[in-house]
Amino acid sequence: MKIIMLGAPGAGKGTQAKMIADKYSIPHVSTGDIFRANIKNGTALGMEAKKYMDQGQLVPDELTVKILLDRVAQEDCKNGYVLDGFPRTIPQAEVLDKALTELGDSIDYAINVDVPDENIINRMSGRRACVACGATYHIVHIPTKVEGICDRCGAELILRDDDKPETVKKRLDVYHTQTQPLIDYYTAKGVLREVDGTKDMKDVFADIVKLLEQ
Ligand code: ADP
Ligand code: ADP
Ligand code: ZN
Repeated sequence: MKIIMLGAPGAGKGTQAKMIADKYSIPHVSTGDIFRANIKNGTALGMEAKKYMDQGQLVPDELTVKILLDRVAQEDCKNGYVLDGFPRTIPQAEVLDKALTELGDSIDYAINVDVPDENIINRMSGRRACVACGATYHIVHIPTKVEGICDRCGAELILRDDDKPETVKKRLDVYHTQTQPLIDYYTAKGVLREVDGTKDMKDVFADIVKLLEQ
């Protein structure tokens, strides 16, 4: 099963992608997580990506596409995967389609997690991410048992640099101009499915499971 998560920054793509990956035992592939791991390790790729991420801009397609194609070519992706944060532009989607077509394969579902812009700033300012395992929480909606400490691994939680309100506004603009057109793109391919992302996390997940298993 090959799934793409679509939606604005903060819509809950990562939260749902992790639950899908656990339930169906397929890898959760997040280009944002790959970039952040590279930044943490001080790689050349990380340094380059950071310039764009700090501005709320997209990392150029050439860089992003290569990383993603390398990742999904790995052994653990052969039975499927859930992509979170890729594709984010029409050219990225086209490259992915071409690579899959060459393998006689295609995307099964593109799930659009729909959340209005009004809710996004609140989601992002409350988002906390684990420095060690990448788990994501929300200070009000999805709190940890002990404040500031990851439930899964006990490491410290941080507010991402690019989750400050000024940068979030920029990222929303970028989303509307560059990423939202993918909704029409995958609708035309017959694989788009919509879920209401304003519901409780568990209810959104139940809706996703229903559509994957119908
Ligand atoms: P969010 O889940 O909040 O939308 P991500 O972790 O997916 O954030 O992405 C963080 C940043 O990483 C983006 O703002 C962008 O700069 C960069 N990025 C991640 N994925 C891509 C992509 N597919 N194309 C270009 N840039 C990307
Ligand atoms: P994305 O990957 O789309 O950027 P995240 O999955 O990181 O989004 O979620 C953004 C923030 O909103 C996080 O703090 C997360 O804990 C919280 N969140 C996710 N899903 C929900 C939900 N259904 N209701 C309320 N908050 C949510
Ligand atoms: Zn953790």
